[in-house]
Amino acid sequence: MVGAGLAGLRCAQVLRDHGVDVVVLERAEHVGGRLHSFDVDGYRVDQGFQLVNPSYPELVATGILGDLELRPFERAVEVVSDGRRRVLADPLHHPRTLVDATRLAPPTSWARLAVLLARLRVTPAHRITAGADGPTRDGLRRAGIDARLAEGLVRPFLRGVLLEDALDTSWAFTQLLAKSFERGRPGTHPEGVEAVARALAARSGVAVRLGTRVTAISAHAVATDDATLTARAVVVATDAHDAAALLGTADARWRRQFTWWWSTPRLVDGARLRLDLDDPLTTSALDLASVAPERAPRGRSLVATPSLSGTPSDTERVRGRVARLYDLATGDVELVTVTEVERALPAVDPPLRTARSNRHDDLVLAGDHLSTSSIQGALVSGRRAAATVLAGL
Ligand SMILES: Cc1cc2nc3c(=O)[nH]c(=O)nc-3n(C[C@H](O)[C@H](O)[C@H](O)COP(=O)(O)OP(=O)(O)OC[C@H]3O[C@@H](n4cnc5c(N)ncnc54)[C@H](O)[C@@H]3O)c2cc1C
Repeated sequence: MVGAGLAGLRCAQVLRDHGVDVVVLERAEHVGGRLHSFDVDGYRVDQGFQLVNPSYPELVATGILGDLELRPFERAVEVVSDGRRRVLADPLHHPRTLVDATRLAPPTSWARLAVLLARLRVTPAHRITAGADGPTRDGLRRAGIDARLAEGLVRPFLRGVLLEDALDTSWAFTQLLAKSFERGRPGTHPEGVEAVARALAARSGVAVRLGTRVTAISAHAVATDDATLTARAVVVATDAHDAAALLGTADARWRRQFTWWWSTPRLVDGARLRLDLDDPLTTSALDLASVAPERAPRGRSLVATPSLSGTPSDTERVRGRVARLYDLATGDVELVTVTEVERALPAVDPPLRTARSNRHDDLVLAGDHLSTSSIQGALVSGRRAAATVLAGL
């Protein structure tokens, strides 16, 4: 197995469960691939802002959720527009937010959104992916989401999830994501998102050789910088870019993300996502320490502000916005670090194809680029790769 991201680890787990001996070769010094976390002066930062949704069916199937202490965020969004703040949440649990909701969009528009979400809740995923597909912006229009609700909430929210502005992404994929938001509350982990991959590696019981870069591959042999290993089957579970370099397969079109990580005095209501429509440079702001105080020194918060187009030269502008969002003095907002991920998500264009061919000559492939750009997609691709290997053996 080449690559100890979620796809490779899930593939290894399923193969081990079927009694197959597996060796995983990983170039980095950690498992998890794009799920990576590290320390900066007492803050636990992720290599790119991302959340973990415990309702992903394939994550449930790994059996690791019980080993993980995922901490969910509030099911509420605070939208800042023209200097005004509106809190939008489930009115059954937060009736006072109804006033803010009706100021943003008429009740009929909210009713259409509720109908869409209710329909997704009961529609099986395979029916969503089987339907006609197109860009998300068209899907929203067809679902009757009017311009005020689309521009005032839905689109700003989706920019941060899909990592793109134009809403070109497959509507079927967006609906799958919406279904997972409807069913589960995304959260984080006290040790950062890498903990998910570490839990999967531990549960699979598979040996992972870290710091081992694969340089050449054939059907039954893998060359690393200092050895050649043989195997009955080889799985390439790298991202699309590294697979292209190793095998000459097609690279993906990538979505990027740039994130500033801020230290602030401890915030009281940081657990709800903030959308700053007055300065769309960032897609959102969220205090990870609000649910995982272990991720910051005592008395401090850790606020992530991801962006699609940000660069280090935007730092002072974003510091000012964070101060405004949380009613702080600019001097109270200290930069911890920035993370820049040029290849964060492979673009998911319509029509959605969740089960792309995972064969290349005699090799088996895994990775989110073969399914959907998500934790769920990476894990599914790993399970499919294992099934292909087992069929071949
Ligand atoms: C910034 C960001 C935000 C995201 N947000 C979310 C989110 O909120 N929700 C969600 O569901 N998903 C999110 N994702 C997507 C999710 O993290 C990925 O879809 C998933 O982790 C991909 O896993 P993978 O195993 O397919 O690939 P990777 O994680 O890329 O793993 C590939 C592995 O192969 C290794 N490798 C490559 N080449 C070699 C070689 N030659 N030799 C040895 N090893 C090699 C790499 O080091 C890596 O460990 C986000 C991703 C990023 C980066």
